[in-house]
Amino acid sequence: MKNREFFKGMNVLVLGLAKSGVAAANLLHSIGATVTVNDASPDGGNEEVKSLREAGVTVICGGHPPGILDKGFDLVVKNPGIPYHNPVVHEALQRGIPVWTEIELTYRISEAPIIAITGSNGKTTTTTLLFHMLNIGKKHPLIAGNIGTVSCSVAEKAMEDNIIVLEASSFQLMGTEAFRPKISIWTNLYDSHLDYHGSSEAYAEAKFAVTKNQLESDYFIYNADQPEIEKYAASTTATKIPFSLKGRTEFGISADEEGIYWNGEPYVSRSLIMLPGQHNLENILSATAAAILSGCDKIAIENVLSSFTGVRHRMQFVKESKGRKFYNDSKATNTLATKSALTAFNGPIVLLAGGLDRGHSFEELRPYMTNVKAVVCLGETAARFAEFAKSCGVLDILLADSMEDAVQKAFPLSDEGDTILLSPACASWDQYPNFETRGDHFIEAVMNL
Ligand code: ADP
Repeated sequence: MKNREFFKGMNVLVLGLAKSGVAAANLLHSIGATVTVNDASPDGGNEEVKSLREAGVTVICGGHPPGILDKGFDLVVKNPGIPYHNPVVHEALQRGIPVWTEIELTYRISEAPIIAITGSNGKTTTTTLLFHMLNIGKKHPLIAGNIGTVSCSVAEKAMEDNIIVLEASSFQLMGTEAFRPKISIWTNLYDSHLDYHGSSEAYAEAKFAVTKNQLESDYFIYNADQPEIEKYAASTTATKIPFSLKGRTEFGISADEEGIYWNGEPYVSRSLIMLPGQHNLENILSATAAAILSGCDKIAIENVLSSFTGVRHRMQFVKESKGRKFYNDSKATNTLATKSALTAFNGPIVLLAGGLDRGHSFEELRPYMTNVKAVVCLGETAARFAEFAKSCGVLDILLADSMEDAVQKAFPLSDEGDTILLSPACASWDQYPNFETRGDHFIEAVMNL
């Protein structure tokens, strides 16, 4: 672990418990900082709070006591979900106290180089693809962030010959100061989280933090098909590695109908790739570029491209039965994600859709409904989705009252060669605690069919 001395004797306030707060507090305490944790919710007999207290960490739960910042803190480490208008965060910044998220901590202590992946969509898929490539290529990767273990806990154990593959959200990136990954990836930019960031510009700026401290010896892999990202790329000092789906390019990584090209030279054939979807091709390009730049050999990369069929609940291939392929895209909790899924298949689709009703429109899907031959509608939006599908000219439309019912109704509507796809275009909270449980339920129903 690097920079132990830097934190020794420091007085640190950790704001927000959750997984990342507990990890940051334990880490800082173990390297000699004086740590106070503050969380607005009551502790509710939480085991982690007990063990933090036993270790000698001060834990204050149930609100932010007035004057908490008078304790002379040198640093605040905040949970990424806590907004900047939170009174303690706001006041800390006014007093000139640095406010970090734990990925800054990760960077400061890590012996291993970091590859950071950000973007509006595709972070988890790209992170997972890259992790597998590096793993098969014997580069000793460690996966960190939303998808894996809290990143500062990973960094604590990382050695020089590891590579940390870090999924980084815009919330996390906003709390960085010196954070400088060896390789950064910016997958794409869509308006999202505007409630938190305030404006599209502020959101894009937060994403740009992934490369803002990089030097020429570092690499910035970015989506060159999006002019907004190209604009930001112009101001990075890192060596730029553009990716593009618009045909072979001279520099960076690109793809056409036939293959993938690295600096204009054919690299691999597209026929090798298992993962469906144009959007996933973008994820494949950026992960492949990062793997090549990390010294991964081509055999390892080809091995992953020819075997990886998707991250759980994200266009995940479930099984083939009587010539029908089943895919679980339960993570598609909005129309944008379902749109990506619908464009991923050439043949006819039987679509299972519907879920929590936020009153949102499905209109955005209309141009992509041409391959949908039948629809089975679920959840609160079942009737609305059925109405929408009918207006798109879909002839076979059924309502289902459970996932088993939906899968059983979908099968007879399909023919050999069809795809049966769960891509709900709605959140799951009308019937499930989260999209993972919904996806698991779908898989179970398919397996029991
Ligand atoms: P994230 O971690 O950024 O949420 P995921 O890899 O979990 O991204 O994918 C979430 C959903 O976003 C998927 O179900 C898919 O439909 C869509 N998606 C994935 N990659 C991309 C991409 N490169 N461009 C557009 N949409 C994508």
